[in-house]
Amino acid sequence: MSKIVSLGETLVEVMADTKGYGFLEPMTFTGPFPSGAPTIFISQAARMGGDTAYVSAVGDDDFGKVNLTRLRDDGVDVSAIAIDPILPTGHAFVRYRPDGNRDFCYNITYSASGTTRMTPEAEKVFAGADHLHVVGNSMFTDEIRAMTAKAAGDIKARGGTVSFDPNLRKEMLAQPGLQAAIEKVLSFTDLFLPSGDEVFLGVDTSDAEEAIAHHLAAGMTAVVHKRGTEGATFYDGTLMLNQPPFPAEEVDPTGAGDCFGGAFVALWKAGEDPAECLRLAAAAGALAVMKRGPMSGAEHADTVRAFADAHAVDI
Ligand code: ATP
Ligand code: MG
Repeated sequence: MSKIVSLGETLVEVMADTKGYGFLEPMTFTGPFPSGAPTIFISQAARMGGDTAYVSAVGDDDFGKVNLTRLRDDGVDVSAIAIDPILPTGHAFVRYRPDGNRDFCYNITYSASGTTRMTPEAEKVFAGADHLHVVGNSMFTDEIRAMTAKAAGDIKARGGTVSFDPNLRKEMLAQPGLQAAIEKVLSFTDLFLPSGDEVFLGVDTSDAEEAIAHHLAAGMTAVVHKRGTEGATFYDGTLMLNQPPFPAEEVDPTGAGDCFGGAFVALWKAGEDPAECLRLAAAAGALAVMKRGPMSGAEHADTVRAFADAHAVDI
């Protein structure tokens, strides 16, 4: 079986119980929930049956244990998640606004996540990997950017593959060096998983089909364009598959893209055909939005398949 590895931030999310703006008065919260975009991805990939490992860092605290326990229970190899003796595990307080946007109060960069580096354990995990999943917003330190480039180069030299989910809010691109880091990742991406306007990263056009054609001509094997409640579309230059959304009662949309990616990559690396990868990834995305907590809706393969079969949508 292919070994799928991801790297980046690990944090807990603590969610306000009421909708509103910011955190300026006392309020009640529910949490901690395990979180972090690549953490959600790797949990979902493992739950789909993938052979997985994760490279990150947590603090020597309960927030770290919440994540380690979740990933261990899912069967993820956590040997390359370092435990920092000083810094706490990353955290994000989150509150939904009435319009569905979110306010955050968080510390990730100056948490244990910011100390993620190429330890001997990480080197070992990368050396055994056949696939690297990169998340754009995870590249917030020079060290993580360098590790990503090194691991991707080595894995590809061995015939392995790289997937890339930008997961970037526009304001993040102002981070010094991030734009260049993203362009570098795009240059070694085999499977691109953009959401909405992220499809235009690295190309000079405002036409989505043209952007996708450009990415494929530049060497990508496939592009899967996620479009939230409008579903997702797969392109590989010869095939275009459109997957309408599965019916879902949206409770908490955080993590839908990561669950979609985790399911897609696990199936793609297991040799499933693109239509089945797309169908089950969309089902995983729909299931993800129906539970409160970023990875509470990341279901196991049997549940994802049963949901997709029970809610067959016309293509
Ligand atoms: P994230 O907020 O995790 O970054 P994203 O923007 O990367 O998400 P989305 O496009 O929101 O990714 O979601 C990924 C996929 O999950 C969609 O393409 C769709 O198939 C499915 N999905 C997301 N939201 C819904 C929904 N409300 N109903 C049904 N399916 C959904
Ligand atoms: Mg996303």
